[in-house]
Amino acid sequence: CGIIGILGQNQVAPQLVDGLRRLEYRGYDSAGIATVDSNGRLDRRRAVGKLVNLSDLLVHQPLEGRAGIGHTRWATHGAATETNAHPHSHGPVAVVHNGIIENFRELRADLAAHGIVARTETDTETVALLTAHHMAQGMAPADAVRATLSRLHGAFALAFLFQGEPDLMIGARKGSPLALGHGEGEMFLGSDAIALAPFTDRITYLEDGDHVVISRAGAEIFDAAGRRANRDMARIDVGA
Ligand code: GLU
Repeated sequence: CGIIGILGQNQVAPQLVDGLRRLEYRGYDSAGIATVDSNGRLDRRRAVGKLVNLSDLLVHQPLEGRAGIGHTRWATHGAATETNAHPHSHGPVAVVHNGIIENFRELRADLAAHGIVARTETDTETVALLTAHHMAQGMAPADAVRATLSRLHGAFALAFLFQGEPDLMIGARKGSPLALGHGEGEMFLGSDAIALAPFTDRITYLEDGDHVVISRAGAEIFDAAGRRANRDMARIDVGA
């Protein structure tokens, strides 16, 4: 239901939780974050219920890293359990998703034919499985995401993180909003400018069908046809 993503200069776990707190107004049943640490290690923590459950978990099982994605979930496919909570992860890929992947059952059947078996009840997990499958075939992360996006029907905002890639985050949107935030040597993704208010007021709203390949140095936006696109940046004051 809410997405946050950070390529930062500091430890991102507390910042991700802070961003998620600002998305609580949308409602949610579970929450989670994933980070990539300085060794490239991808890991995640998820908890059912209020955000305090996630922040308590992080006290006992902290997550290191200056790159991360976070999610508050409003379940559409699969019960509100820890297994079904985002981020979903498979192989080198972690993903958070708002919306619904309408054709996930077909995608799941295709993956099963390759011996790749879903472990959750969610539509979202198929996005992680498909992207990891493309990478296992030798595709670079951005190409793997593009190949995945071309298969998805439905409404989505997505943020991806990759094992071994502490300076890479990819976002995509179709039918659900996603904003790109610009900092000083830091970049952000969020469902809205409110989530990003503690970090930056310089916001680019992605247009429908866009995806964005992000590093700390900046971001490259591509339109639905895969062409480089220029999108305006504006100063959005929502009050930090
Ligand atoms: N359809 C996804 C799920 O049920 C995402 C729901 C959301 O937008 O939070 O896990």
